[in-house]
Amino acid sequence: MSVAAPEEGAAGQVRVFAQYDGDVRERCDVVVVGSGPCGSVMAYELAAAGLDVVLLEEGPPYTPDDFALDGATSMVRTMRESGLRATRGTLLTTMQANVLGGGSVVNSAICARPPEFVFEAWRSNFDLEHTGREALDPHYDAVADFLGIAPTPDDVQGDRNLLFRQGCDALGISSEPIARNVRGCVGSGECFTGCRARAKQSMDLSYVPAAIRAGARVLTSVQVQEVRAQGRRVTGVAGQIVAPFTGKPGARFEVEARAVVLAAGVMATPVILQKSGNLANGSGQVGRNLQFHPGTATIGVFPDPVQPYFGATQGYQSLHYLRDGFKLETLWAPPGVFGVRMPGFGHDLKRRLAELSRASIFDAIASCHNSTGEVRARRGRSMNPSLRWRFDPQDVQVLGHASWVLAELLFAAGAHKVLPGIHGVAEEMHSLDEARVLQTREFAAGDFVNASTHAFCSTRMHGDPSQGVVDEFGRCHDLDNLWLADTGIFPRCTSVNPMFTGMALAHRSAGVVKEAL
Ligand SMILES: Cc1cc2nc3c(=O)[nH]c(=O)nc-3n(C[C@H](O)[C@H](O)[C@H](O)COP(=O)(O)OP(=O)(O)OC[C@H]3O[C@@H](n4cnc5c(N)ncnc54)[C@H](O)[C@@H]3O)c2cc1C
Ligand code: SF4
Repeated sequence: MSVAAPEEGAAGQVRVFAQYDGDVRERCDVVVVGSGPCGSVMAYELAAAGLDVVLLEEGPPYTPDDFALDGATSMVRTMRESGLRATRGTLLTTMQANVLGGGSVVNSAICARPPEFVFEAWRSNFDLEHTGREALDPHYDAVADFLGIAPTPDDVQGDRNLLFRQGCDALGISSEPIARNVRGCVGSGECFTGCRARAKQSMDLSYVPAAIRAGARVLTSVQVQEVRAQGRRVTGVAGQIVAPFTGKPGARFEVEARAVVLAAGVMATPVILQKSGNLANGSGQVGRNLQFHPGTATIGVFPDPVQPYFGATQGYQSLHYLRDGFKLETLWAPPGVFGVRMPGFGHDLKRRLAELSRASIFDAIASCHNSTGEVRARRGRSMNPSLRWRFDPQDVQVLGHASWVLAELLFAAGAHKVLPGIHGVAEEMHSLDEARVLQTREFAAGDFVNASTHAFCSTRMHGDPSQGVVDEFGRCHDLDNLWLADTGIFPRCTSVNPMFTGMALAHRSAGVVKEAL
């Protein structure tokens, strides 16, 4: 195995597909499944404590040469089901990455701590005694120090982010630069397709190399298909080596361990448990309670060039309406990805795409506690989930309210027209008066282009073992040495972007795993 300098990330330091020449057998103290934000924090903390750790990841490692700037190509290469994974019931598309570093490689690096009222609702509804903002702050702090999380400075905001601040100021609502896990961001707006500047502190550049330096072994292109158990104890995991991009199965592997941490993500962890003989499911809650932050994005077209290609991908936010159920942010992605939301075709579509250089896009993500769904394993060998989700009519109105506020905000920032991207209303609105229909309309779930990259609760924590899969430290109620550590363990949504909370909880749970071994 070759060893790269730490600043080059983990790519040269991990076992990759081409290096396997037969079945693989490993033995360790703790095997961690999934190298996303939650699994990587776990792997590093446990290795740094002197435990023998093996970190398993199904996806390959990426270097800047592997990043495709074109949105569609990038999605095919970095995301499960080409980034088009969708729920049945109410249609909603959702994205989960399949690379070393998980979602952190393709996300916007937004690190947000939920306010205490979010945790108050967690504690009182789910019998969680120790999970509040004050209790978690030391864990957020530790992760923030490690990753250099800091508010986005003005010099890399670019016009499209600063227009958001201008709009909020004009409306008299609070706003703030987004805190992100970046070091030396140059404002290229490329977070979605991978940071070629190596500024984003995605896990493959931060926690994974640190875990390796602390002694962890990292195997990529390995798909965990089963957790093995005897009575109340797990003994390890097993699965298959899979080729990058095609998923073509190769040799088998197994890892024997004193403890297992599943951090394969909100969609994959329940599938692995279900395929392991319905493990850890005494409560019947594995795969249930799935929640999202459905979002809506509004395009504002300004009289002068905005040059949206420059600026932090998402640089400004407002928590003003958080108690009303939504968070406001700026948004950027490759134009081809926005093209899906643009109305019209042919000449009309071409004209609108040409206007992107004068456009700024603001979005809202909604807390939708009434809208829940389910993750189920499919029959056969596929590890892709079957998803069902229903958008509750009450929650739909929250998104409707948000769409009105987004239009207000864009006009207040100086836009001369807005494109709300909602079915059943005008494609373009040229004044606040025209947009007022968004304030009064009774919306239906199908009016929105439902999409969400924030998902949680599929293996929720609950103080009562008959109501939840894990306790508040991530330990399975049914098994003594199996921990779950991805956003699936949230009891309900965070109301703000989930990654930072997932990492803080993983940081806290790592302490409990260490104690137990
Ligand atoms: C485009 C996009 C933008 C986003 N922007 C933000 C943002 O700015 N801020 C924020 O807070 N959140 C954001 N999110 C959400 C955030 O990235 C996720 O909430 C976060 O990555 C979840 O971390 P995790 O560790 O729970 O799971 P994941 O990041 O999904 O990691 C799970 C890992 O497990 C691996 N895995 C899955 N199954 C198996 C298996 N069977 N065997 C082995 N390995 C397996 C996966 O390949 C993956 O690497 C965004 C998400 C996307 C897709
Ligand atoms: S905006 Fe560009 S430079 Fe900054 S973190 Fe994102 S991809 Fe990297």
